[in-house]
Amino acid sequence: MDHKFYMSLAIEEAQKAYNKGEVPIGAVLVVDGQIISRAHNNREESQQALNHAEILVIKEACEKMGFWRLDNTYLYSTIEPCMMCSGAIVQARIENVIFGARDPKNGCCGSKMNIVASGIFNHDANIVSGIMEEECSKIMKKFFKKLRDSKR
Ligand SMILES: [Zn+2]
Repeated sequence: MDHKFYMSLAIEEAQKAYNKGEVPIGAVLVVDGQIISRAHNNREESQQALNHAEILVIKEACEKMGFWRLDNTYLYSTIEPCMMCSGAIVQARIENVIFGARDPKNGCCGSKMNIVASGIFNHDANIVSGIMEEECSKIMKKFFKKLRDSKR
């Protein structure tokens, strides 16, 4: 798998979120080298607390594949998935989770805790971290700096 290629598409999604004033996180879901879905966080636009990028790609993939089990899939996310998204990854039986930058405050793929590969639930995913980490975290830092500056 060309992790960098798919991560660069997730970063494109994060950029779309950034342009709309959303927290810039993007995700892409891949099966057999095919992109099934791609999305970005749109919590503000939708005023929907659950609309994280990872949830949106999982929902769309289930709709397209007509099946809730996403075996043999690769979920790419620019930022380490949170507890909700990590829970959804387990529920959807996603096999591989690849993310860019860690989220020390909210990440549940090893930072705060590890939900997706805990060994205590009925499914564990493989985790790959640090793919294009610099680019993934740069856009987040830029977003939060802009937000702080606008509040001055
Ligand atoms: Zn999330």
